[in-house]
Amino acid sequence: ASPCASPGPHRFDQDSLERYLGSRLPGFPRQPAGTLAVRQYSSGQSNPTFYLQKGGQAFVLRKKPHGPLLPRAHKVDREYRVQKALFSAGFPVPEPLLYCSDVSIIGTEFYVMQHVQGRIFRDISLPEVGPAERSALYLAMIETLALLHSFDLQSLGLQGYGRGPGYCKRQVSTWKKQYDAAAHTDIPAMNKLAEWLANNLPPDDSEESLIHGDFRIDNIIFHPTQARVLAVLDWELSTTGHPLADLAYTTQFYFWPASIKGLGQGSILGFKNTIETPSFEELVSTYCRCRRISTTLSNFNFFLALSYFKMAGIAQGVYARYLIGNASAENSHEFAKVVKPLAERGLELSKRSSFSSTQHSTSGELFHQSRKGQEILLKVKQFMKQHIYPAEKEIIKYYTECRNSEDRWKKPPLLERLKELAKAEGLWNLFLPDVSGLSQLDYAQIAEETGRCVFAPEVFNCHAPDTGNMEVLHMYGTEEQKKEWLEPLLEGKISSCFCMTEPDVASSDATNMQCTIEREGNSYVINGKKWWSSGAGNPNCKVAIVMGKTKNSSASRYKQHSMIIVPMDTPGLKLIRPLSVFGYMDEIHGGHFEIHFNDVRVPVSNIILGEGRGFEIAQGRLGPGRIHHCMRSLGAAEAALEILCQRAAQRQTFGKKLYQHEVVAHWIAECRLSIEQARLLTLQTARKIDMLGNRRARKEVAMTKVVVPRAVLKVIDCAVQVCGGAGVSQDFPLAFMFAYIRTLRLADGPDEVHLSTIARWELLDQSKKLTAKI
Ligand SMILES: Cc1cc2nc3c(=O)[nH]c(=O)nc-3n(C[C@H](O)[C@H](O)[C@H](O)COP(=O)(O)OP(=O)(O)OC[C@H]3O[C@@H](n4cnc5c(N)ncnc54)[C@H](O)[C@@H]3O)c2cc1C
Repeated sequence: ASPCASPGPHRFDQDSLERYLGSRLPGFPRQPAGTLAVRQYSSGQSNPTFYLQKGGQAFVLRKKPHGPLLPRAHKVDREYRVQKALFSAGFPVPEPLLYCSDVSIIGTEFYVMQHVQGRIFRDISLPEVGPAERSALYLAMIETLALLHSFDLQSLGLQGYGRGPGYCKRQVSTWKKQYDAAAHTDIPAMNKLAEWLANNLPPDDSEESLIHGDFRIDNIIFHPTQARVLAVLDWELSTTGHPLADLAYTTQFYFWPASIKGLGQGSILGFKNTIETPSFEELVSTYCRCRRISTTLSNFNFFLALSYFKMAGIAQGVYARYLIGNASAENSHEFAKVVKPLAERGLELSKRSSFSSTQHSTSGELFHQSRKGQEILLKVKQFMKQHIYPAEKEIIKYYTECRNSEDRWKKPPLLERLKELAKAEGLWNLFLPDVSGLSQLDYAQIAEETGRCVFAPEVFNCHAPDTGNMEVLHMYGTEEQKKEWLEPLLEGKISSCFCMTEPDVASSDATNMQCTIEREGNSYVINGKKWWSSGAGNPNCKVAIVMGKTKNSSASRYKQHSMIIVPMDTPGLKLIRPLSVFGYMDEIHGGHFEIHFNDVRVPVSNIILGEGRGFEIAQGRLGPGRIHHCMRSLGAAEAALEILCQRAAQRQTFGKKLYQHEVVAHWIAECRLSIEQARLLTLQTARKIDMLGNRRARKEVAMTKVVVPRAVLKVIDCAVQVCGGAGVSQDFPLAFMFAYIRTLRLADGPDEVHLSTIARWELLDQSKKLTAKI
């Protein structure tokens, strides 16, 4: 990270160093002599660190400071040893190249390591990147910490590296001693905190992992463009001890007292800002998942309190050095002010039994998810941040570039890789309660999360129309049908389409359907035209569920139709053309096709549930499955509102930011109202389905299907308006979002049909009330 290096003063013999490296460091250019450039890094004050450059090669040197030193401090030989062990084990650290104990070379011991090119973020809020990338970077950081803690000391060859069991006890006593030696005034909270820590040492204080001791984002070099950790720096405080001490230290900024502003960039107390995404819970649960430990971190209050105690101790030390005129930071005098609030926060954290950095929305409080639901929601959120949002650009680019080629219906390889990842993490088939163990209420919040990105539902195998078709086969299929079609669908090996709507009749009244399914011996023969069969363009679409008429003149008009399984390669089935949606071919969802069936013959065993049972199945298919769209579209509304607000804060007209125009501010408020109202109704419906079943939640399902698309469209429309011309262009996702969500007012049945349903049920409910009164 050479840009951070400053020419700063360094007091050692550069020529002597150059000669030494030329003779000892393999690959170090010997000639031309006298051309070694040395610059000191502004960070790394404890053990001065230097950027070395010669003949196009770059290295980093770290040395002890000059002068008398505290015993056990500045042990660069230990840093070298731990980095060597970790590098050999494949952990991301700069490769240590050479250690020199000969103080005659540059006056102190030193070591040289590989120079790693990448990004270092000095401000923990990472203002240089957007929220999605920030989350991905933080998650990569915490995964790296979990990896560090999973090493076995013996296999690293680091036995005896630390001081044995009792790390927490030693920490409390060390920091207490340091604080007492530096204290300038009596701070009761500090004494109380020290006492509490000493009396509440964790019972597992014998646990020994390799710990970093100063694990924070500005000690990490990230890949120049990807959310990948290339190297963890500054191993000066590394030792063996309780891993949760590192975790608490790394996440402590979530609880930073608002009264304390940052005390200098790069300083250990330099938290200028905090962050909302990723949340504390997300980081902790990623860490626990990677380490395969429970998220109920016992005694985490102790470790956070210890972290704050240590911070307060450090602040006191800096102030004490200022008093004796020996402090390096310009603002050292300010450090005295923070000791008390840090100690008070430490005391407060010591009493907490649970930790949360996020504010729960009202709906979250009213509609409690199960523990499993919460865990999966968290995992999905992390997955979205770590894998989906960073992949958005590439996947959209793929579809844009393939638009006019033969590959237009194929899935991008990256999407397939993401599916594998999601499957491996168990984030798969979450929509199906019998498989996922989740209620509709649990799933509602998860589906909303996935709805923030247009291709995300497919990554989790939770996308329409496969979800509806899987529900049908799961609920009504025979064992053979399940084996042949449901299993591969659940595994994501194939996909499917659903053929009900017909071009020649008004299909919102499905009794109009004309396509015929006639029995001939051991076969059914299908003849008719369908359109709007979503997903049929996907080369992996191997099966259709087709609804048609199996005439039975004696039965009611709701018993004349059946559903049947038709493999897509059956002779006579022909894809005629894809239909556009406001000009979009919707390749991401496999398009929407017109399909003709001419004497398509399938075995009788392909009928689902039996002849004349089509409407019965349709009711089941369109129960929970129908509100899944609504759940997902709320995620799209949140994404659109985010875009709206960002744009309103960026652009200026007539001397004001857009959001400062009252009309825009009101749009923002109205959008928030719409989203919250729509979400409450969706969750209420999900809960009713869970409690009373699909049938008894029919009115709520219909209400949700009218309210949510209206609300979401309103938000997207406002976002388009605020973005101006850009809002309708390909540079923003809003135009496609609008087109897609607008179809929901038809595709899941037209609004008018739902309104009629709502009115019918309302009248029925009212009449029941009247009867009860009479
Ligand atoms: C993007 C998209 C994807 C789709 N995916 C699928 C799919 O995968 N499989 C599938 O089979 N179908 C699919 N459809 C089709 C969809 O289900 C139908 O478009 C819908 O059911 C309406 O049928 P229709 O188009 O024949 O409209 P019609 O039945 O002709 O209705 C037209 C209009 O008449 C009015 N109307 C209808 N009934 C009433 C009433 N009772 N009171 C007052 N007004 C009324 C409404 O305004 C309605 O919009 C999809 C549609 C779209 C746009």
